[in-house]
Amino acid sequence: MLMFECPHCKQATLTFKQKLLAGKWCDVICPNCGGRSCAYPALLVVLYFFYTWDVMLFGYLTVHETSVLYLGVMIGGWLLLEMFGISLPLARMKSTSPATTPGNPPR
Ligand SMILES: [Zn+2]
Repeated sequence: MLMFECPHCKQATLTFKQKLLAGKWCDVICPNCGGRSCAYPALLVVLYFFYTWDVMLFGYLTVHETSVLYLGVMIGGWLLLEMFGISLPLARMKSTSPATTPGNPPR
C-alpha cells in the first residue's frame, strides 16, 4: 500500500486518502504520533488557481467550440493537477491539545 511520510515522526504512516485530502485544504493527523500536518497553503493557492484556470478555459472552449477534445483536455489537466496535489510536501502544524507544561513539551 502506498504510504507517505509524516513530517513529525518521519515514519511512512499517512495513507493515500489522507495525502489526497491534504491537497483539499484538510488537516492530516498521523496515526503514529498524533501530529497535525497540512499541505503548504501558498502551494495550494497556486494549485487552485490552475484548477480554476483549467475549468474556466477548457470548459468555455468545450461549450463554445462544441468539441469533446477540449473536454478531454480539461479532464486530463484536472487529473494532472490531482497528481500534483498529492505530491505537495506537508507542513507541520501545532497541536490543538491544551497548553503544555514544562514536563509535557509540545510535539
Ligand atoms: Zn507522525
